[in-house]
Amino acid sequence: MVEVDLNHMAGRVLIDHAREAAANAHAPYSKFAVGAALLMADGSIVTGTNFENASYGLSLCAETVALASANVQGKLREVVAIGIIGGVMDGRGGITGHDPIRPCGRCRQILNEAASLAGRDLPVHCGSADGEVVEHHMLSALLPYAFGPGDLGIG
Ligand SMILES: [Zn+2]
Repeated sequence: MVEVDLNHMAGRVLIDHAREAAANAHAPYSKFAVGAALLMADGSIVTGTNFENASYGLSLCAETVALASANVQGKLREVVAIGIIGGVMDGRGGITGHDPIRPCGRCRQILNEAASLAGRDLPVHCGSADGEVVEHHMLSALLPYAFGPGDLGIG
């Protein structure tokens, strides 16, 4: 039980970092800002925001940006948890909304790359913009029977 409580506490901290990151989202088209924060094995936190593009189809999700940033730091195998938050931009650097944001299908697959390489399942903490709702999932539950590096002999 203690382990679960600590996990949930870490989730709240990650969501706070994700909220700070969301303030820098480049989301002029959807006006829906998302922030993601990765907890690394060394205790550091790596963040990302959604990064939209005028072509729409080339837009990147916050989770993907955070993972790419972790990779730049040589830490792709050190991801131990992720927190995500998102909501409608209020025009003052904040976000609004009551529903927790969960990773899209593509991001679940990309998260699975890091989790598989690290040899661990990932807690995925999903917060609502208003701070009232936090969901705690495991990546293996969000993406069961995943295809991953191990299927190609990498791991
Ligand atoms: Zn995504």
